[in-house]
Amino acid sequence: MLHMHIRFDGLRGDGGFRTVASRCLRAFGFLLFPRGCAGCDMPDQLLCPSCLSGLSDVVARPMPRTAMAFCFASALYRGSTRAAILAWKDHGDLELGRVFGASMALLARRVVIPALRRRTDVKTMRIAVVPVPSSRHSLRHRGRLHTLDLAGAVVRQLRSSGLDASLVNGLDIRGNAGKSVQVAGSRGRANRINGLVHVRSRLRLQAYSSVILVDDIITTASTLRECMRALSDEGLCTLTALLIASTAGHE
Ligand SMILES: [Zn+2]
Repeated sequence: MLHMHIRFDGLRGDGGFRTVASRCLRAFGFLLFPRGCAGCDMPDQLLCPSCLSGLSDVVARPMPRTAMAFCFASALYRGSTRAAILAWKDHGDLELGRVFGASMALLARRVVIPALRRRTDVKTMRIAVVPVPSSRHSLRHRGRLHTLDLAGAVVRQLRSSGLDASLVNGLDIRGNAGKSVQVAGSRGRANRINGLVHVRSRLRLQAYSSVILVDDIITTASTLRECMRALSDEGLCTLTALLIASTAGHE
């Protein structure tokens, strides 16, 4: 069963209007000036082959208290990958969602599915793929929970491999967690997020035995750890986390 419950708090507020207006302007602009690659501005490309190739790595980072002991990213957060993620995440370049979704699906196919198939309990596992939540401020600013698209792509990949997986938008950030990773800074963000992630509906998550978390970027892993803490409080085991990109040097 597919669980999707998105709450776009304040969509009618100024932030929401600005987001819609910027998308309209962007769409109009595209008619006049065909787009360039989101990573390097090469003409007539969504993401050129060179920038796209940067999204097909497997970057493993130790992640204590997960069943797989690691989380995995498709790229390092730098250069054209960083530019493309910011264009998608904060500047309304929604077309990139399918590119990042494809990179997450590839990551699931490479690392998660082989690991799960080695488990003796794989046939009875019910897996909730949970997008890492955004603060209310970020939801208002973006007008969407951008990690939902990534989680959906992972679910489709797991299902096509015969696994019992569902998209469950089951976590929430309450309170002021800071605007974004750039604004808050890694140390500030690590402190601000503590205690702010909550399970939205215990009933919706109770049906699952394991969780895969999905997010865009991992820096200090403080948000992931806080999500795992909230899930663990409800008795749920986190298998791993999948990310588009990982910053270097935070292990
Ligand atoms: Zn490019």
